[in-house]
Amino acid sequence: MTGKKFRKEVKDWLRENFTDEMRDGAEGSDERKEWFRRLSTKGWGAPHWPKEYGGGGLDFQEHTTLLQEFQAVGATTPNDNSGQGMNMIGPTLLEFGTEDQKKRHLPKIASGEVVWCQGYSEPGSGSDLASLSTKAVLEGDNYVINGQKIWTSGANIADWIYLLVRTDPDVPKHDGISMILVDMHQPGITVKPIQLISGTSPFCETFFDDAIGAREDLVGELNHGWTIGKRLLQYERSGISGLGASGAPRRPSGPQKYYLAELAKNYIGETDNGRIADPVFRDEIIQHRQNQHSFQLTLARIREENASGKTLGDATSIFKAVGADQDKTGTTLQVRLMGSQGTGWEGDGFTEVELATTRMWLGSRASSIAGGTNEVQLNIIAKRVLGLPD
Ligand SMILES: Cc1cc2nc3c(=O)[nH]c(=O)nc-3n(C[C@H](O)[C@H](O)[C@H](O)COP(=O)(O)OP(=O)(O)OC[C@H]3O[C@@H](n4cnc5c(N)ncnc54)[C@H](O)[C@@H]3O)c2cc1C
Repeated sequence: MTGKKFRKEVKDWLRENFTDEMRDGAEGSDERKEWFRRLSTKGWGAPHWPKEYGGGGLDFQEHTTLLQEFQAVGATTPNDNSGQGMNMIGPTLLEFGTEDQKKRHLPKIASGEVVWCQGYSEPGSGSDLASLSTKAVLEGDNYVINGQKIWTSGANIADWIYLLVRTDPDVPKHDGISMILVDMHQPGITVKPIQLISGTSPFCETFFDDAIGAREDLVGELNHGWTIGKRLLQYERSGISGLGASGAPRRPSGPQKYYLAELAKNYIGETDNGRIADPVFRDEIIQHRQNQHSFQLTLARIREENASGKTLGDATSIFKAVGADQDKTGTTLQVRLMGSQGTGWEGDGFTEVELATTRMWLGSRASSIAGGTNEVQLNIIAKRVLGLPD
């Protein structure tokens, strides 16, 4: 199909299937669910995956067109839909999984039926992930798993977990790790949400007491999980930075859609012919906007140059680190512009957007920790991208 014809097909389909309610509906609302159902029925739940694994079979150009059209009407992109399944374990299985694993797991990710979570970090192993000690021992046809993971985002709602486990304790640490896919619905797994000061529990402690993982759910070869685990992190970092395996630009949501200039007008009001009166503050905002713009242009250039559509390797760390810093700077400027209205926690004195902004600002502190800290990204850039000595 020509590019023009495909764009028209997407536009027409969106006109018939995507409503304002679906755009504005809350996460988990009936409208959102109906949107995901329609996407998946159309085969666009995972538009760029091969058809035999539940995907839409689109090539890179078609996929980019589709995402552009989704963005234009504010539709949640297919990439946003199934989180870690779609963006992290899905592409990893496409690259390293057996035919049986792809056939069993990928269609359920594409349709949004199954929710995945990540079992990497442990209480004693975060940045030094390779020191992990959760153990898996082969007994008959199953691996028996014992140990603990932490900061497991969404473990309380996940159906499956992809785990990094130690399968050989007697070799150098990177050489004794495997990746295994494990069903969360079993008695050997206990999930305890971590209560945060905000009252929400985005992540959990996850305990494994003789939990079972099927032998056929080992991803790649036994003890070769480190390479696969690192590749998955590249998919994760690519997604966080907006680089996206698919070329999807990051969609602003919630209060982020309020631009700094608009906020300045509404909150500080001291404008000099439409300019913020304080020159130092003005300069900070302009610098941030310029950096943001350059970052977006660089992302676009990288996507365009990368016609294969394959996620970058170690260079994803550059985008992850820069993107995290920009997130933090942007939300801080937003809160500063709102003054005391940007630091409200509850009460009638604050609008919904103001309360959400405070939470977004606090949440943005995690950008330079989740998916590997910025210090770890800088180490990767130094060693693996620039080739500096260890
Ligand atoms: C919002 C959020 C969601 C998360 N979701 C998940 C999840 O779903 N699954 C999962 O497995 N994990 C998850 N994590 C955990 C995350 O991967 C770890 O927090 C992260 O890798 C850092 O590990 P740590 O917390 O143990 O910190 P540590 O490794 O203890 O680091 C502490 C500090 O020391 C610095 N540091 C450590 N080593 C070095 C070094 N070699 N050089 C320079 N500085 C260093 C770090 O940069 C950091 O500032 C999540 C974290 C957050 C914040």
